[in-house]
Amino acid sequence: MPGGEQGFAAPMRRTLLLLAATAGLAVAGQTRAQDDVCGASHPGMWGGSAETNANSLWGLTWSPFGTIEYGWETYLPLIQRELATPCGPGTPAFAEALARFQERHDLTITGQFDGATFQVFRGLWQERRPFIMARVRGEACPEAASQRDLGYLQLDEEHADRITRLLRFDVLHAYRAMRAAARREVPEIAADPELLQVFSGWRDPAADAARCEAEKNCDGQRRAVCSPHRTGTAVDLYVGHVQGLGVDSTSPVSRQHMSRGPTYRWLVANAHRFGFVPYVFEPWHWEWTGPTPETEAYSHPSD
Ligand SMILES: [Zn+2]
Repeated sequence: MPGGEQGFAAPMRRTLLLLAATAGLAVAGQTRAQDDVCGASHPGMWGGSAETNANSLWGLTWSPFGTIEYGWETYLPLIQRELATPCGPGTPAFAEALARFQERHDLTITGQFDGATFQVFRGLWQERRPFIMARVRGEACPEAASQRDLGYLQLDEEHADRITRLLRFDVLHAYRAMRAAARREVPEIAADPELLQVFSGWRDPAADAARCEAEKNCDGQRRAVCSPHRTGTAVDLYVGHVQGLGVDSTSPVSRQHMSRGPTYRWLVANAHRFGFVPYVFEPWHWEWTGPTPETEAYSHPSD
C-alpha cells in the first residue's frame, strides 16, 4: 500500500494525531491545528481520496440495508471511532486511516469509502453483539428474563411516547450511571431531560408476538421469534427524532438526523465504558454486555 508522508509507524503516528488533536482543542487557532493534524494544509498523496470522500459523504447512492440511501454520514461516528481518528471524512488523515483499515482487512486499498469497506465495518460491529453471534452459531433463543431479575425505571427515565417499565437490574444500574455521566459531560444532554430516556427495555416475548401480529410489523419475524429485548439487556434510548417520524424510525433521513446529534455521538464514544455496544442500523438500540471483550473492542478499536 502507499505509505504515509511521514516516517512514523502507524500506531505512533495515530497517537501523535490524537494528542495533537486534543492539544489543538485547548489552544487558540484550534481549527488551524486540527487542519494541520488532519492534513488539510498539506494534502499529500491522500488529497484525492479525501476529496472523493468529501463528495461521497452526501452524494453516494447505495443500499446498505435494502432501501436506497444517499451518502454515508449516518455511519461516520462509528467509522471514526473504529479508525481511531478525530479527523473529518474529507481530510487526508481520514483517507489514510481508511486505507490502513482496508489494508488490514484485505480490501482494495483506495482510502475511499465504498460499500465493500462498509460491509467489513458492519461485520466487526455485529460480531461484538453476543446476542447476534449466538444466533449465527445456531444457538437457541435465550430465555426471557424472569420478573424477579427486572427492576422498574423511574418516571423521569421513561419516554412519554412509549412507556416502558423494566430492565434487568444490572443493566438498569449501568444505564443510570451512563445517563448521569452523559449529563455531566455534555451540557446539551443535561439541558434536555428527554434525551437518553428509555422507550423500550425488557419486552415480554408474548406481548412482542401480539404486537407484531397487530401492527403487521415483525421486523422480518425476528421481533416475534427472538428479540434481544426479551433478555432485559437491550435498551432503546431517545437520541432525538425528525418531526413527523417516530423515535425508532429506520428511514435514512431519521437515522441520519439521530447520528448527527450530540447524544448519539457521545454514546458512540462512551457507551462501552458502561458495558453497552451499538447496533449500526438503529442509533437508539444498545445492548448491554458488561465489561467484556465486546466493549473492550470499542475501547481499543480495530488495528
Ligand atoms: Zn431495540
